[in-house]
Amino acid sequence: MSEPLSTERLQELAARHLWMHFTRMSSYTNGESLPIIDHGEGSYLWDHQGKQYLDSLSGLFVVQVGHGRQELADVGAQQGGRLGFFPLWSYAHPPAIELAARLAEMSPGDLNRVFFTVSGSEAVESAWKLARQFFQLTGKPGKYKVITRQTAYHGTTLGALALTSVPSMRAPFEPLPAGARKVPNTNNYRRWTDGSIDGLTDEQFARATADQIALTIEMEGPDTVAAVFLEPLQNAGGCIEPGPGYFQRVREICDEYNVLLVSDEVICAYGRLGTMFGCEKYDYVPDMITSAKGLTSGYSPLGAVLVSDRIFEPFGQDKNSFAHGITFGGHPVSCAVALANLDIFEKEDILGNVVNHQDEFAAMLNRVAADMPIVGDVRGDGYFMAMELVKDKATKAEFDRDECESLIRGFLSPRLFEEGLICRADDRGDPVLQFSPPLVAGPVEFAEIERILRIVLSEASDRVVQ
Ligand code: PMP
Repeated sequence: MSEPLSTERLQELAARHLWMHFTRMSSYTNGESLPIIDHGEGSYLWDHQGKQYLDSLSGLFVVQVGHGRQELADVGAQQGGRLGFFPLWSYAHPPAIELAARLAEMSPGDLNRVFFTVSGSEAVESAWKLARQFFQLTGKPGKYKVITRQTAYHGTTLGALALTSVPSMRAPFEPLPAGARKVPNTNNYRRWTDGSIDGLTDEQFARATADQIALTIEMEGPDTVAAVFLEPLQNAGGCIEPGPGYFQRVREICDEYNVLLVSDEVICAYGRLGTMFGCEKYDYVPDMITSAKGLTSGYSPLGAVLVSDRIFEPFGQDKNSFAHGITFGGHPVSCAVALANLDIFEKEDILGNVVNHQDEFAAMLNRVAADMPIVGDVRGDGYFMAMELVKDKATKAEFDRDECESLIRGFLSPRLFEEGLICRADDRGDPVLQFSPPLVAGPVEFAEIERILRIVLSEASDRVVQ
């Protein structure tokens, strides 16, 4: 084995050669401040110089069963030795077959067919293509459009990006593929308003927001709309809850207009909300689920689109086939790792851990928020929570763009990291801090999150008040 490289050498090489994602590379031109994460164990990570961090983001909403699981690495190695690769193009292999059957068994309703991808963006992209071809096969070729919600993130490939509603991510790549329409989201702290919905109860607000989907379908023409893509709990904008009855109303609308309901669960599936799938948390059955991330807890990349029998049916007839494929989709190593990951879910009752501790998690964040003038709202579900940061709690006054930039990027992100807490400080919508710890975390980790948040948010509050 060659000598391991020093931290300085790694930073120097990264500054010259590595292109990090969504990263201002100019911040790292001298390489010195680049964090290099070296290894992990449970909810904790260590950087290359041995400093410890609490990973309250699970990597990127990924590492459900925690870091450093040698058993998952071993399963990957064994499968790699047996069959390191073969595609699912006209052939199959045992890990993909077993995983598809297991996902079909676990998932709600008649979601019984699994199309594997590598990533979440590809799952979303595949689901849109699938919806379009479904309507071509069933005699409605004009139905190709999709509806998604304001501020929602659905991925970065051009199709998925068309569904994403974050202007700064879209602008450099426009024009995007045609056909994606936006509707308001269910943010109940800052309701979308046109005057007519003031004073509504939570139920009425959720229903009015769902009805915007019906209105948009009517406006576009029902014969042109193929699908609605919604996250169970919307990530971008800060863990936006659906509100009571929202998905039940959306389901009705989709049935009425023959529009497919796609539950984008790239984050919310595999236990994040305390249920195996996010749709179970809010009690609806979609026509498709898009997933990735937590399916393998990140030990090997894998995405999956779960599809109902009804949608699969025309693809299974005559000479038809889904005209779409990805070389590494359903990679045998990833499928074997996913099966072992799901075994851990069962053996260690991972869902039970979330259910048993989720109230404590929310209570901790609410306790911190109550003491911090800068925190306006705490929202989310399960192990997926956010705090919205405001200039003035009483009036919900928002920070302007420059203030956001200096608060989020200039202060909070580096200070939290310096104190040893990895979470997400995000300003794609209103500024929020997001927390999604590994699903094995509990009171010990919550206490650590609380300790660090109290230090850093007090400092941030002082800066804002001055
Ligand atoms: N959909 C949702 C809801 C997501 O949160 C993400 C990623 N955060 C994606 C799609 C894209 O997934 P990936 O980064 O694996 O392509």
